[in-house]
Amino acid sequence: MFNEQMYGYGSKSSVIRELFAYGLERKKIVGEDKVYDFSIGNPSIPAPKEVKQAILELLEEPAEVLHGYSPAAGDPEVRQTLADSVNRRFGTHYTADNFYMTVGAAASLSISIKALTNPGDEFITFAPFFPEYEVWVATAGAELAVVPADTKNFQIDFDALEKLIGPKTKGIIINSPNNPSGTVYSEETVRRLAELLEQKGKEYGISIYLLSDEPYREIVYDGVTVPFVPNYYKNTLVCYSYSKSLSLPGERIGYIIVPDEVDDAGRVKAAVAGAGRALGYVCAPVLFQKAIARCVDVPSDVSAYRRNRDLLYKGLTELGYECARPQGAFYLFVKAPEPDAGAFSEHAKKHDVLVVPGDSFGCEGYVRISYCVSEKTIRDAMPAFARIMEEYQEER
Ligand code: PLP
Repeated sequence: MFNEQMYGYGSKSSVIRELFAYGLERKKIVGEDKVYDFSIGNPSIPAPKEVKQAILELLEEPAEVLHGYSPAAGDPEVRQTLADSVNRRFGTHYTADNFYMTVGAAASLSISIKALTNPGDEFITFAPFFPEYEVWVATAGAELAVVPADTKNFQIDFDALEKLIGPKTKGIIINSPNNPSGTVYSEETVRRLAELLEQKGKEYGISIYLLSDEPYREIVYDGVTVPFVPNYYKNTLVCYSYSKSLSLPGERIGYIIVPDEVDDAGRVKAAVAGAGRALGYVCAPVLFQKAIARCVDVPSDVSAYRRNRDLLYKGLTELGYECARPQGAFYLFVKAPEPDAGAFSEHAKKHDVLVVPGDSFGCEGYVRISYCVSEKTIRDAMPAFARIMEEYQEER
């Protein structure tokens, strides 16, 4: 007999995937440019030219170097190059030993969660959150508790968080810049979080680990800075990927940082290596380990996303839609004009506008609009967004 839990995950795809698949079919019927697909977070800007250049140069390397296995944790030179870059940017003192290369942020998170979890442990995250956290926490054998969204500005509701922390709390998962709200945690939020976790860790005599899910770290606007979390809370594991910052989601490349300051750092590093082994995630793609090392200081080009953000935010709020102005990532989290976001998403679908109900992110009454699309898609979709709002206003 197969595994029922795995069957459950495999037999139903996510709402996002379903909408995306629907959009592809619908485009065949009504035409590519008549479907306004805001469902998926696939970067719409190409990878920087330096990535292609790096790959071309790497192709000249001997095949056994390029296509052979690296050590399980990744190529030591690559890891040292990444450590040097992070040290330059954030004033840290990491070495290759603090880095574990992964197949994207998904693996960074699932490895870190598995590495830390013992039966009965609990993780806490904040709505709205990336839906796969539930899968990774459950399959590691832990429970996921969710702090309800603070819809004023999507920062942290500390009173609600404090109530959820207890002796079984193993870790807290944060994601800033956030998918789907676009919020960036302020320095004050990160500082308060660090203080609370230190206080609670002492109170219960436990180590509470903070997993910082950061695939959008580089995608911020208006000069906003993203606090580097380990500089505020020593028990932080950084879960990073190049999927969004270098527009390389299909290449599956990222890393985990386990700083030496983390409680029991040596054993946590070994547990990360063990979890990578247990999940079969050893030796991340070698060509792309080497490619990103060559592009380590290449900045992300966020200008197109910023234009899209401005266009969509201004357009939608002028039409009467309510949403917090995102400071990062490439999503707008919009209050649905009716309480049932699923019904709103279905309604929008009738106008060939595809938006994802917030329920799957643990936040009802909102929809996620991914604006990593062409500017034309946004401009063309505006009349449809206007008609949808008019229909809701007529109903009242
Ligand atoms: N975490 C968040 C918040 C994401 O939005 C995503 C992907 O969209 C991931 C993790 C997974 O990223 P990756 O494609 O690098 O595995």
